[in-house]
Amino acid sequence: MNFLMKTIRFTNLPGDGIGPEVMSVALEVLQKTGSIHGFACETTTHDVGGAGIDNHGNALPDATLDACRAVDGILFGSVGGPKWENLPPKEQPERAALLPLRKAFKLFANLRPGNLFPELADLSPLRSDVASAGIDVLCVRELTGGIYFGQPKSTKTLEDGQKEAIDTMVYRTGEIERITEVAVKAAALRNKRICSVDKANVLETSVLWRQTVTKLIHKLDPSIELTHMYVDNAAMQLVRDPNQFDVLLTENMFGDILSDELAVICGSLGMLASASLGTGTNSNGFPYGLYEPAGGTAPDIAGKGLANPCAQVLSAALMLRYSFGLEEAALAIENAVKETIRSGLRTGDIAQGAESVGTKEMGDAILSRLH
Ligand code: NAD
Repeated sequence: MNFLMKTIRFTNLPGDGIGPEVMSVALEVLQKTGSIHGFACETTTHDVGGAGIDNHGNALPDATLDACRAVDGILFGSVGGPKWENLPPKEQPERAALLPLRKAFKLFANLRPGNLFPELADLSPLRSDVASAGIDVLCVRELTGGIYFGQPKSTKTLEDGQKEAIDTMVYRTGEIERITEVAVKAAALRNKRICSVDKANVLETSVLWRQTVTKLIHKLDPSIELTHMYVDNAAMQLVRDPNQFDVLLTENMFGDILSDELAVICGSLGMLASASLGTGTNSNGFPYGLYEPAGGTAPDIAGKGLANPCAQVLSAALMLRYSFGLEEAALAIENAVKETIRSGLRTGDIAQGAESVGTKEMGDAILSRLH
């Protein structure tokens, strides 16, 4: 081995259902990408979710968390399934594994690329003249602030017998600045256009959001083309003409809704990856991150070798980009997936009734197209 070779250190947490099947493809792809692009992968596999409950009595076993603390990022599969559905909500695999991981690593930035390859345009619910060009939009969502977490948050019974519920939307400049920085860095790797989404005609938090974003982007990189849009308009524009956007930057609740809208217009859960980045930097000087497919454990096809590995493979590419600064290697993986789709190969979820291949064949096709 070349003694100058960089080593990237991450844990892989396959989880449940199709998780282990698609994770093994992603790991092979990472190993091969490393051998081409000059890095070695050091990774260990740990139980999480249902596998954690079954083998250790806990969806996020201590050993798994300790292993994650010792590395620079997490490649996550997905967790949950019918076997654990009857557990109390707090012990459900998704809630009991992902929420503590988000908390432990202060994952405040959620990046969801919405990619629809033109070859898969028929999978999109959008009109064909809109979808045929493909879609390439990145949604950057603030993940730990806003109305989901603001205090006070309560329900009480009033004197007249009615019930009253309160949620509070709070943002501080520091929270807005750190997510804006993430969007600026992400935009620098794309087309340098950011559309910040808010509701500044109604909400005080949005007025502060707009002022803070404008000021910081002007300071960090005035060459970025910054626009602002109200969230109701953004929801419409996303289905009317998604490619008018490059990077969408928004707060927690608006991002929750817009990123799901983006996912659905892109057609298939089996193709979509996501990244959640933490505060501070890892040992490489990049953000610590958790990288996972947008879909779940797909119990209907689990164990049959039919799952689409693309979302997990594309999550690995995001990990190289954001937590290890390996942009060329990330692009190589994304291009290999693109070329595989272009070649006509399809797993069942994207075949639309036509002939399809299994997880392994799709994975081998991606591996063979890595340069
Ligand atoms: P799901 O995403 O698992 O499945 C929805 C549909 O999409 C299914 O028909 C499935 O076969 C298909 N699908 C998803 N990913 C696919 C892939 N890679 N290849 C081919 N087809 C794919 O959603 P669900 O059925 O609502 O949830 C199933 C389980 O997954 C539940 O226990 C849920 O809690 C869990 N879940 C976990 C996560 C996570 O770990 N982050 C996210 C969502 C759902």
